[in-house]
Parts: sequence; C-alpha cells; structure tokens
Amino acid sequence: MSSSSCSRCGSPSFYTRRYSGEVLCKDCFGASIVEKTRRTIKRYGMLRRGDKVGVAVSGGKDSLSLLAVLHSLSAAGGYELVALTVDEGVKGYREESIQHADWLANKLGVPHTTVSYKGLYGFDLDAALDWTDKREVSSCSMCGVFRRRAIDEAAQQTGVDVIATAHNLDDFVQTFMMNLMHGDVDRIGWLDPLIVDSNFPFRRVKPFMEVYEEEVALYAHLSGLPFQSRNCPYMHEGLRSEVRDYLNELESKHPGMKNTLLRSSLSVTAKISQAKTKEMIPCQSCGNPSSSGDCAVCRMQRLVMDHTTVPSSADE
Ligand code: SF4
Ligand code: ZN
Repeated sequence: MSSSSCSRCGSPSFYTRRYSGEVLCKDCFGASIVEKTRRTIKRYGMLRRGDKVGVAVSGGKDSLSLLAVLHSLSAAGGYELVALTVDEGVKGYREESIQHADWLANKLGVPHTTVSYKGLYGFDLDAALDWTDKREVSSCSMCGVFRRRAIDEAAQQTGVDVIATAHNLDDFVQTFMMNLMHGDVDRIGWLDPLIVDSNFPFRRVKPFMEVYEEEVALYAHLSGLPFQSRNCPYMHEGLRSEVRDYLNELESKHPGMKNTLLRSSLSVTAKISQAKTKEMIPCQSCGNPSSSGDCAVCRMQRLVMDHTTVPSSADE
C-alpha cells in the first residue's frame, strides 16, 4: 500500500502517526482516538457500567473532545454523562468557553451544570488576583486549588460517581517531570491511575492519559468542535511550558519518546503509591480531607481575604 493511503482502509491519508508509522485517513484517525480511549478506560477500570460520570468541561479543545469521545462510548459502556463546568470569573475570556461547553452539551443531550468561584468562595478569580500579591502565589496555582474543589462541589450537586478530566499524555508526563523538578515525590504517587483514595468522595480518572496532545487537538479540529479564540490573560505556566517545549523537541527527534516516558512514569507512580498511602486529616475549617488539618483551599482563601477588606460589591 502506498504511503499516501490509509494503512487500515486504503482511503486517502490524512495523518501519519510518527511513533508507530501508521498512516490514517480522517475516519480511521477519529476511530483510533475513540478506540484508544476505550482501551485506557478498560485497562485502568476507570468507568464502570451504571456509573454516573461527571465530565469536567472547561470548553477548551481537550475537554470538548473528551465529552464527545465519552459520549460516543457511553451507550456501549453503560454509563451516563453529566458535563461539569467551573466559571472562574475571568472577564472577556471565560464567557466564550462556557458557551462552547453549553453548545456541545446541548448538541449531545448531556445535562450541564456550572458552578462559579463567586458563588462558592464569594469572589471571582479577577478579584482574587487583584487583591493578592503576585509574588506570594502564581495565578494558575491559586486557580488550580480553587478549581479542584469547585469540580468536587459540582460533582456533589449532580450526584456523580466519578469525575473525568481531559488530561492527555503530554499533561501527564509534564506533571510527572515537574513533580520531580520540585522534589515533590509524594505527588508522583498521586498520579497513579489505579489509586483509590477513600478520603475523597469521587474517583478521578483521565481517559485521555494515553493520547498525545497533538492528536487530541487534531480530533477536535476533525470533529468540528469550536475553537477558543483567546487564552486566559492570567496564564502563567513558567516551568511547565519549558518542560512542554523540551518534550516536544525530544519527540520530534525520537518519535515515541513521550510514550516511553509515560510508561516509565506509570511504573514509578505505581511503586510510590504502593509504598505510601497518604493519611488525611479533616480540615479544621471546612472538614474536607487535608494532609495537615488545614486544607489548600482554606489556606488560599485566607491568603486572598487577608489582603483586603472585601468590597461590598463582592456580594452582588
Ligand atoms: Fe486559571 Fe491559569 Fe487556567 Fe487561567 S490559565 S483559567 S488562571 S489555571
Ligand atoms: Zn478547608
């Protein structure tokens, strides 16, 4: 078969998977992403028949793709979907992605619940960052702490069994390497996809963790999913973007390197997570699980509130 035709069906080629040498047409490429996700779900027992699955949908290409792929697998897999969106409150940026999330959930007939920082914490991200000293905490670190709890809150409201997030293979390997670089070995154990942490009410799964970021983007494009025109104005990736560039460079010189790094990361995370089960203490302020009795959300909330007298407009 010539290299310009699909290795699976012979139709005109659309994409060459460099790490495997496979040439794929549009349909076979799309099907390969769905199939790969199905296998990941099965391999790690991520979703079970009868589960109500909360899909965290920010409205970006990765999370829209995840919702679309899980939707196409849900009938055969026997699970039900709910889309969960967090509105951080970033003027001029979030409105568009929330519309995209709404549009796709509607189109697929998936119920959609949105929770906001303002509703949960009393301030939106714009205000929190405005009040806080940027040297004390980076925008994305603060936002990430608040978002995780917000997703849990949305999951609680909708009564889901499991939360699915759109982290892809690149995200996984980047996070692994960043934990190494920060000397944060405990966190490496938390990445183990098989970890069942009874301290938290919901399982968390990453069905795209074996799919390259580039292929998720291509899937979104092929499926006609809307594309967000702007980036978050607070995006502060620092080290992560350097790690991303480095991994991309390695991959282009040595196709398949990211797959190898994923496999290595997974065996390290499994060893660490077996050796160490974290002990959790209820947070003395909010009762959620924490490692010290003072959870990250409450600490972050105090950081925001200590810097200011909350203007009365925050109650609007
Ligand atoms: Fe939050 Fe950072 Fe994402 Fe903006 S880019 S929404 S600050 S995590
Ligand atoms: Zn707390």
